[in-house]
Amino acid sequence: MSSSSLIDADRKHLIHPVINYRAHEARGATVLESGHGAYLRDIDGNELLDAFAGLWCVNVGYGQQSIVDAATRQMTKLPYATTYFHFSSEPAIELAEKLVSLAPASLRRVYFTLGGSDAIDSAVRFITHYFNATGRPSKKQMIALERGYHGSSSVGSGLTALPAFHRHFDLPLPHQHHLPSPYAYRQANGDDPQALIAASVAALEAKVAALGADNVAAFFCEPIQGSGGVIVPPAGWLKAMRDACRRLGILFVADEVITGFGRTGPLFACEAEGVEPDLMTVAKGLTSGYAPMGAVLISDEIYQGIAGDARDTAVVGHGQTYSAHPVSAAIALEVLRLYHEGGLLANGQAQAPRFAAGLDGLLEHPLVGDSRHRGLLGALELVADKDSRARFDASLKLPERIAAAAYRNRLIFRAFGDNILGFAPALCYTEADFDELFARLERTLDEVLDEAEVRAAL
Ligand code: PMP
Repeated sequence: MSSSSLIDADRKHLIHPVINYRAHEARGATVLESGHGAYLRDIDGNELLDAFAGLWCVNVGYGQQSIVDAATRQMTKLPYATTYFHFSSEPAIELAEKLVSLAPASLRRVYFTLGGSDAIDSAVRFITHYFNATGRPSKKQMIALERGYHGSSSVGSGLTALPAFHRHFDLPLPHQHHLPSPYAYRQANGDDPQALIAASVAALEAKVAALGADNVAAFFCEPIQGSGGVIVPPAGWLKAMRDACRRLGILFVADEVITGFGRTGPLFACEAEGVEPDLMTVAKGLTSGYAPMGAVLISDEIYQGIAGDARDTAVVGHGQTYSAHPVSAAIALEVLRLYHEGGLLANGQAQAPRFAAGLDGLLEHPLVGDSRHRGLLGALELVADKDSRARFDASLKLPERIAAAAYRNRLIFRAFGDNILGFAPALCYTEADFDELFARLERTLDEVLDEAEVRAAL
């Protein structure tokens, strides 16, 4: 199919996620064709540097032949095996054992899903089942954070606290609550890490007190909020929230869908603070996007509560056809090998200072108000006034301008609605890739700054 007929057919038939449908009909798709290392190629032959790892998922980079080989071997041998009816498969079992051995020690059992949304959905179902089965049916209220993202399932979208996920969807549900996120740049006490941590803990305590501890099931958070604009909390925040949940008698759920698999340095962000969650959701970097897969890992206490006693012979009614899919599992096993034996985790850690320095260096730029990062996850926040931190007016459509200029400079990252630019380079990035990223990014910002409407808004 030619480039124009592909774009035409996309416009007519393909519904894209999280997009304005009319804007997409008018603009048409950018069709990607191939990838290698840190680079993508579009259907017109343009080579694009991907500074967003697809959708913060292709942590190993594109074109890793050993993954293709692992998938091919598994597809040839056994393309599908159900894990219903007591069946299992070798890659599924090996992956479960491996993941549990790598995850925080509190997590002993794993349920595999197709991605992050159904990992969250599974977590919610397990939590509900656990409290009902262990005689605490009043524990139903769930707390998450403003600007949080926990996927797009019917229940997860309510835990998510981004306006587009609630508007016209009758969300959040009555038992879903949100607390302010630890957004240092935009919080009154933001420059004082201890005050920020204390404010989050106090907000959680107050919410649990208001709802009644006997009614609260769990607190959900991302160790670093991704889709909400890469909100990096101060060191110690995650541990403080985990400890608060234990004190308050509620479950702590770490949503590591973005932060897992080396994105922030260690394999999981929880590791950095010795945090042991009751449940943890993962996806994205688990297979690096080479096939769909996610998982929820749970503590033995929750597992035992759900399993109940041997006299209860009813099945636990939770499952999907493709849970623990053997091809995805074989891919995940090879991806995990690349992180460790393949040296990608170490490379990501070694390159992180270069990434941090590149972002911080752009604080000098007239458009940039804030730079924040951990590991290879980072953001720049653009402001109209650096002193007051005033945002640009939405009518300026700055994110669209930035995305267009970035594409002209053959660079891909994420320009969020409130003028936050998100970056998640693959763990395979070389020094040369980072040099290219920051050269192209600076050129992009300069070009946008040169636009008359933007200058006028400063
Ligand atoms: N949780 C978090 C923290 C995420 O970032 C995402 C996806 N961006 C999800 C859950 C949902 O994952 P998926 O898109 O694979 O359903």
